[in-house]
Amino acid sequence: MRRGPLFLEVTMANRNNYAAKLELKKQNKSSAGLISERFPEVADIAIHMTYYQNGSNNVLMVRKVNIFPSSYAYFKMDCMTKGCEDGGFDLTPVIKGMIKERKKGKKGALDCRGKFEAADDGHAHVEYEIVMRYNKSSR
Ligand SMILES: [Zn+2]
Repeated sequence: MRRGPLFLEVTMANRNNYAAKLELKKQNKSSAGLISERFPEVADIAIHMTYYQNGSNNVLMVRKVNIFPSSYAYFKMDCMTKGCEDGGFDLTPVIKGMIKERKKGKKGALDCRGKFEAADDGHAHVEYEIVMRYNKSSR
């Protein structure tokens, strides 16, 4: 992680917040490297996410993300709540754990830890299902 220097650079440039965030995200993504470099044993990953708003059982959104060897090894999904500050759902530890154990499927849930003025403690969560396929030749 090279968060420190990057953060300073963004602050000093005094850019508008949105542009700075986009830039940060781009840099995070490219510093994550590609799947083919970081996890050469992975053939593809399918992530199925259902977004819920806390306090109601309303499904905000259903999303499917396919990750291929040519994709960035970046698994942080944005929070879909408007006005959420620095939120999101980081699947990185889940996916790394799966690869380590060569798991093919996993289900779970994550809470958004971002700041959101209308709710102090948790305003959104996702349920995820991950299906991972591995290259046969790598074993
Ligand atoms: Zn959020």
